[in-house]
Amino acid sequence: MSSTEFKYCESTNFYKRLKTREVNIGGVPLGGNNPVRVQSMTTTDTLNTVDTVNQSIRMIKAGCEYVRITAPNVKQAHNLDNIKKDLLSKGYKVPLIADIHFTPKAAEIAAEIVSKVRINPGNYADRKRFQKFEINDNEYKLELDRVYNKFSPLVKICKENGTVMRIGTNHGSLSDRIMNRYGDTPLGMVESAMEYIRICEDHNFKDIVLSMKSSNPIVMVNAYRLLVNKMLKNNMNYPLHLGVTEAGDGIEGRIKSALGIGTLLEDGIGDTIRVSLTEDPEFEIPVANRILDRYKKNSFLKNDIKVEDNYINPFNYTKKITEKRFKIGGDNVPIVIVDLSNLKEIDYNDLSEINYTYVKSIDKWNIGDLAPEYIYLENINHSIELPIQLKIICPFKIWKKSNKKLRIYPLMNVKEYLEEDIQDEKFIYIDKSDFNNTNLLTKVYNDKNSVIVLNCDNNIQRHRNFFINLINKNFNIPVILSFKSSLTFKEKIINTSISLGGTMLDGFGDGIFLKDKENSQIKIHNELSFNILQSTRTRISKTEFISCPSCGRTQFDLQKTTEKVRKNTSHLKGLKIAVMGCIVNGPGEMADADYGYVGTGKNKVSLYKKHKLIKNQIDSKNSIEELINLIKINNDWVEPN
Ligand code: SF4
Repeated sequence: MSSTEFKYCESTNFYKRLKTREVNIGGVPLGGNNPVRVQSMTTTDTLNTVDTVNQSIRMIKAGCEYVRITAPNVKQAHNLDNIKKDLLSKGYKVPLIADIHFTPKAAEIAAEIVSKVRINPGNYADRKRFQKFEINDNEYKLELDRVYNKFSPLVKICKENGTVMRIGTNHGSLSDRIMNRYGDTPLGMVESAMEYIRICEDHNFKDIVLSMKSSNPIVMVNAYRLLVNKMLKNNMNYPLHLGVTEAGDGIEGRIKSALGIGTLLEDGIGDTIRVSLTEDPEFEIPVANRILDRYKKNSFLKNDIKVEDNYINPFNYTKKITEKRFKIGGDNVPIVIVDLSNLKEIDYNDLSEINYTYVKSIDKWNIGDLAPEYIYLENINHSIELPIQLKIICPFKIWKKSNKKLRIYPLMNVKEYLEEDIQDEKFIYIDKSDFNNTNLLTKVYNDKNSVIVLNCDNNIQRHRNFFINLINKNFNIPVILSFKSSLTFKEKIINTSISLGGTMLDGFGDGIFLKDKENSQIKIHNELSFNILQSTRTRISKTEFISCPSCGRTQFDLQKTTEKVRKNTSHLKGLKIAVMGCIVNGPGEMADADYGYVGTGKNKVSLYKKHKLIKNQIDSKNSIEELINLIKINNDWVEPN
């Protein structure tokens, strides 16, 4: 699919940044040839000038290039002036951005104070009611006229004041008009922005930045790609702000953000990024910089695999189904292989780190949801008996010499594989230099007892082309994505998530194998693999938490509350639970969550089942019990082990 119909970036073969127009945001230009900028958002009350200024300074010191501040109403919008003056008096000229939902008047005031205004096209001129209705073309046009009248004053103010505008679409907070015509889809998100872009262009206003955020990296990546495709078809080149919303906190939040943002940056898409974590905003900046570091270094990496035709639809995620070989590929969930090759001897503690816990009193193994299918060992003569569910992979030479073969599989390099004639089930380790070796691939193709382990690097385009070549040759061999890195753990989280997660978002890969001989943190590495699979929604092994980063609208400690909700519900595998800071945006932005815990004011919480309000304004003291009850009533509760 190389035709312009599917074009969404400069090249799917090599890294090249998408050329966008430059906009000047308070003296820090964005887009064009400027570096990809880093930004974040304050979480303080906007009326509290001191706290907001102090937090902004912490963000600036961490490397934040634009500071976004919520302005939920007119009073807060006016106070942006005090915040700006105070920052300037202290020597900080950072451009400020006002974040607006629902209140055009606040946007109009803010646009005369700050350098950029972010509006949400889902709620600028519309109230979200989750109503279903038929809307004919004439009614649709009347609706657009209404939006035109409501939105035009802001466009004019921005134009007069040199204020940039971000049209920031969020999955989950689309207008009912869009939802009823296009659904809660990437296409709906793009059309939602287009309605507002057309109005801006009608006023000849082009200082626009666009975003297409979602808490689901698949939706987010597809929506941005579709947006670029639409822009290219319409001769538009607006700069793009990238982010995964409500990514959560800790390692999960970092993985989800890196995976979504990085997959797009890899194709040269994106001019500014925000990593949204449920943590203090200054902690988002180093994560954002670590993501961007990769592209500074990666820009010279060459993709040496060429493809004739590209059969991936970049706008619609589809998992590439491979042929099932010894319970790998086909309709199986992707497997996880954990590298324990640094251990001379395995003991029960090592196995409990990877969710196989031996219960001596009953002489049984307790197997958790994050239990890998395989471990990679270089010493297969361990003194304890392993659970029968756990299989071993070892280097071919060791396998060949050993008498033990039960549940032990060889990992062969290409030379060994081509020289030997082994009929047993096996893994073939394919390195970069073997990517184009058709003889090898043909032998593997005809050998139904083999699975490929692909040595991946920091070049998603190369992985992508390897898989496209397999498709073009009609090869349906299962492929495990392997990644070896000598980076620090913090860098590894980012790079592994992008390299493997990005490839999985293209629909490829039947498993993950993180090779890490030096690794002393078995547990964390195992969790990294499972988190990448969970974030790409290819294997759900735990509860998914969607939590907003909080902002000036939040009236409770979101970090502590998220932790409490997590503590009580993290065993509910497969459920999506949202913890949102405010009633204004929370219900819309929690998108496809099964249950929502939404702050409704001081010490008040509302509970949702999907988008339906079930308990309104309950006391926050009882809210966790009430949430558990709600989950129980809907038969989604299981008792923790
Ligand atoms: S959902 Fe969270 S981040 Fe979004 S506006 Fe409400 S409190 Fe702020």
